[in-house]
Amino acid sequence: MHIGFIGLGNMGAPMAHNLLKAGHPLRVFDLSPEAVAGLVGAGAQAADSPSDIAHGDTELIITMLPAAPHVKKVYLGADGLIARSRPGLTFIDCSTIDPHSAREVAAAAAEHGNPMLDAPVSGGTGGAAAGTLTFMVGASVADFDRARPVLAAMGKNIVHCGDAGNGQVAKVANNMLLGISMIGVAEAMALGVALGMDAKTLAGVINTSSGRCWSSDTYNPFPGVMENAPASRGYSGGFGSDLMLKDLGLATEAAKQVRQPVILGALAQQLYQSFSAQGHGALDFSAIIGQYCKDT
Ligand code: NAD
Repeated sequence: MHIGFIGLGNMGAPMAHNLLKAGHPLRVFDLSPEAVAGLVGAGAQAADSPSDIAHGDTELIITMLPAAPHVKKVYLGADGLIARSRPGLTFIDCSTIDPHSAREVAAAAAEHGNPMLDAPVSGGTGGAAAGTLTFMVGASVADFDRARPVLAAMGKNIVHCGDAGNGQVAKVANNMLLGISMIGVAEAMALGVALGMDAKTLAGVINTSSGRCWSSDTYNPFPGVMENAPASRGYSGGFGSDLMLKDLGLATEAAKQVRQPVILGALAQQLYQSFSAQGHGALDFSAIIGQYCKDT
């Protein structure tokens, strides 16, 4: 399938590489010429603008952009992708944005005769490179079924979450829980160690007891407990605290729109905001344990 790809950053570039590897002819665009050159070197064609991608043989356009304002800028307006595309051309936005913006852009696309799917991902840059991402997809069943083989070239789990916007709903709900659970594990580990327990022994007990969760048994925030976790390499790599802060902001904003209380989510957002303001936004999000113990 002839595919266009816009947004070749930390996530988009490896995803686009996997589409090329799967044999899809690819036209690419990014504001960064270096990012475009990386894909052209691997066999993609460069486009001059997002709307330039919509021309010719392109059947599907995938976007992987930082946030909602970038997505709206690329899709909407007289010069946007929607206005410049022929009806029938399909869009998949893989950026993480709020569900309301996703539905707004999907509605504008539908009005112009363009199917649009929201398909945010989890799995990070490692999953993007390995082609093992999870896609949470909001779309009609027919559009989901048509997009599935393309998404399968970039991911392992492709989940239909319901109509437009529901992929983003799944993403913000999951990541809000992840932020809360990481803070909970950090607090419990710090308490146990302050009361005299060995961190590894405590993690072992938690991980065979009712407190167990992904943040405790796969990504434990206490240094030295898990060899492969960011906590054991100075909180480098992994999922940045500023990205967690962004996702918690999306969750609390989306909650506000439907007057749904997210008390712990809002608290988690404030903790990550304070952590970021202290200059730690680039550290992995498990570094939040530093707010509880000085030695980490
Ligand atoms: P990034 O900042 O590395 O890449 C974004 C790219 O979009 C950049 O190359 C930028 O030049 C390009 N861009 C911005 N505006 C543009 C425009 N108008 N036209 C064309 N290109 C434009 O971001 P990323 O880490 O790749 O993340 C992308 C999305 O994926 C975000 O929504 C993020 O929340 C989400 N996400 C990231 C991770 C992660 O671990 N990095 C994990 C899951 C989801």
